[in-house]
Formats: sequence, structure tokens, C-alpha cells
Amino acid sequence: MKKYDIVVVGAGISGLSTAYYLKLENPDLDILILDKAKGYGQGNTGRSAAGFRDMFSSRINRLLSSSSISFYKHVQKDLHHELGMKFVGYLFLAANNERGRALEKNIKNIPGTKRIEKDELRKSLSIADLDKESADMLSLDPAEFGLFGVNSGIIEPDLICDFYYDALKQMGVNFSFGTSVQKLSLDPVKRLDFPGEPFLWQAKFIGSLETTTGKISADKYVIATDTWSNYLLDPIGVDSHQRPKKRQIFQVSGPAVEKLLFTDSFSGYGVMPFTILPSHGIYLRPALKERSIWIGVSDDVGRDFSFVENPEAEQDFYETSIYPVLTAYFPQLKDSKVTSKWAGYYSYNTIDKNPYIFRTMNAVVVTGTSGSGILKGDAIGRITSSLTEGKETAILYSGDKININDLGVAGRNVDPEHIIL
Ligand SMILES: Cc1cc2nc3c(=O)[nH]c(=O)nc-3n(C[C@H](O)[C@H](O)[C@H](O)COP(=O)(O)OP(=O)(O)OC[C@H]3O[C@@H](n4cnc5c(N)ncnc54)[C@H](O)[C@@H]3O)c2cc1C
Repeated sequence: MKKYDIVVVGAGISGLSTAYYLKLENPDLDILILDKAKGYGQGNTGRSAAGFRDMFSSRINRLLSSSSISFYKHVQKDLHHELGMKFVGYLFLAANNERGRALEKNIKNIPGTKRIEKDELRKSLSIADLDKESADMLSLDPAEFGLFGVNSGIIEPDLICDFYYDALKQMGVNFSFGTSVQKLSLDPVKRLDFPGEPFLWQAKFIGSLETTTGKISADKYVIATDTWSNYLLDPIGVDSHQRPKKRQIFQVSGPAVEKLLFTDSFSGYGVMPFTILPSHGIYLRPALKERSIWIGVSDDVGRDFSFVENPEAEQDFYETSIYPVLTAYFPQLKDSKVTSKWAGYYSYNTIDKNPYIFRTMNAVVVTGTSGSGILKGDAIGRITSSLTEGKETAILYSGDKININDLGVAGRNVDPEHIIL
């Protein structure tokens, strides 16, 4: 059994960015990244809506997102590695009511955020006035103003993963795809060679991984398995502090979609911003290449926490729950067609909705990205790698210093995030 310095389980954006900073800081480390998929970025990283924003209510989320956005911008602009990053903006639509005021309070001070009034919205986005009957039946708030953020837009997660993967390969990091970890095996720190070890009274550590391609051992492990974390951590009695929540995306196309999609009113890219409706968390994500709009939603109560390996998007859910709301705001989309759809899971921290990065024995666990792990991916990698190296603080690309304990379990110190999409 070959022994590595570090094994990273999970080659999504969290695992790749963590390994990247580990290797960059410690070129001599022998690192293996393994994933049960046939390649990298095939888990939830490959199923996301691929939006980025710094419009968060919690301080830590703002730091992690704005630093990662700056890093991705640097990669694309200065390192000439295309990430498909387009600053098309995010537009939160809201009503002049308690909910709208709370949203405005949370994000109005983020640099670059501007308020757009109703008349301007009507012109630039051709959003309709709600008819009273549908508004009552569907519990809809009118779009009375918008909050437009400029440090936000769309990106291509597969290209971000390519960036980290290419660099990791160049630095000599090993990969093993199609390798599923089935068990984290606990060993006693002081072995006595009695059958049944480790016992209650013995200090323990993760001695090896049982995988579909045999046993693998390392001094340290990084568990970056996102919504799959419970399968590995539950059996050894470690709480991942996340629960999987199914999330779906429906791509809609057609002439009316294109008319809404292509507009010069917001950014130099000639497309609508990533737009969030005032009610029920439904969002419209411009998809330029496909000349389509992706419709997504973060449904909460009523959406169970069950988990299947390959979740599917539910056409019924689109037709009965999303379509009526979407077409109440944009009646012109009545004839649009769903041309593609997919689903994945949020690794959902249901308490404060910020990521969890914590140590357990000789492993570091990264979970709870709560629907924004791409746009915070670079910062998450820097923090997870610093903790794996045994540091107490991490320095982000922005230069901000993060007390890693703040994102841990025992010393957790974050304010709750209210803006989850
Ligand atoms: C529909 C949807 C929309 C989203 N929209 C956005 C968005 O707009 N912006 C944003 O920033 N984020 C968004 N997200 C969230 C984002 O996708 C995640 O936060 C991010 O991808 C998490 O990355 P990760 O590397 O932690 O997990 P993953 O990408 O899921 O990687 C985990 C990896 O672990 C591997 N693995 C699991 N178990 C094992 C095992 N036992 N053995 C070996 N390998 C294993 C998996 O194969 C997988 O590759 C969205 C997610 C979904 C589902």
C-alpha cells in the first residue's frame, strides 16, 4: 500500500482548489486526488447555475466571494486562462414591502450596487404589471424596484476546474479517477495489536481509505465530497453539518426568450443580468451560447432532504410550480419551451448557510457550501489548505486574513447568510 502525504477525496472545485494551494505552498508534498467519477468537476460543480456575486448578507461570505471573484478575474485577464467570466451583473427584483426593505438593507452598501426604479425596469427588462388574481393566488410581490450589482455575473465552472487541474498536473499531483472511497478506516494512535482495535479509550486517526481500487493511506486527508460527505463521515461518528437539498435547472428557449435575453440596457455584454424574481426565489440565468435562459429555484419547505446518486429535474415541478410564477412576471414567455434540464444538490448548512471547514483527527472536512461553492471556490481552497497545513489563519487573494476557526464547529463565529439562491 503506497502512502501519500495527503489524499484529497473529491475532485470538485473545493478539492481541486485546496490541492492547488497545498502543492503551491509545499512543492515537495506527495498528493493524490481521487474521485469516483471518470474525471474532475463532475459532481455538483458540473451541475451548477454558474453564477457569481458578492451580494451576500454575511461578512464572511462577502469576503470569500469578492476575493474569489478577484482571483478568477486575475486568472482570466492576467494569466490569459479563459474562464467564461462575464460581468453581466445580478439583478434582485423586489417590492416596497418588508421583504424588499430587508433585502435592500442587506446589500445596498455593497460597492457598485445601484437601485433601479420600476419605470426603468419596465423599459429595460419588459417586466409586466402583475394581474391581481394571479398575484393573490400565487402569493406574488410586484417588481417595484431592482438592486443591480456589478461585481457579479456568469462563469464556466468546468473552465475554472481546467485551470486548477492543469496546474496540479504540471506540479506533479497524482489523480485517480473512477476510484470510490467506501470507508474511512480508523486506527489507534498507539497500536496494541488486540483484535477489535481501536477501543473507546484509544486515541484514533484515519489510517487508510478503503476504495474500489484497494486500500490507500496518507498522513493527512481532505474530505471534499460535498453532499456525499455523510456516507463517509456518518459511519465514523463525525457530523458533516450539511444536508443535501435537491436543486433543479430548466433551460428555456424560443423567440420570446431571445428577445428578453439580448438587451443592451445593463452591461457591455448585450444580455440581461442574472435576475432574481421578487417571490419564491426563482431566478433567470442568461445562457448566451445556448441563446437560452436557465430557470432555477431554491425551494425550501416542501422539498425533502432525500438523496439519490443521479437526481433528475422534474418537468411537473417546472410546469406546476415555476411556469405560473415566471409567466406572471414575463407573460411573453408563455410559449417558451424547456429544451434541457438537470438537477444536483446543495450541500446545505441549514443553520447559518456559510461553509464549514473543520478538522477531525488527521482529516480536514469542507462542506456546507450552500449553493455558492463555485463563486467562493478559490477562497475555500486557500482556507482548507491552510487548515490542512496546521495553520490557524488563511490569507485570501484579496489580502484579507481569515481566522479559520470562525468557519469551524467548536469556535464557529459567522453571521447568518440570508441571501441564498
Ligand atoms: C442546481 C445548482 C445550482 C448551483 N448554482 C450555483 C451558482 O450559481 N454559483 C455557485 O457558486 N454555486 C452554485 N451551486 C453550488 C455549487 O455547485 C457547489 O457549491 C460546488 O460545486 C461544490 O463543490 P465541491 O467541490 O464542494 O463539490 P462537488 O463538485 O460535488 O465535488 C465532490 C466530489 O466528490 C466526489 N465524491 C463523492 N463521494 C466520493 C467517494 N466516496 N469517493 C470518491 N469521490 C467521491 C464526487 O464524485 C464529486 O466529484 C449550485 C449547485 C446546484 C446543484
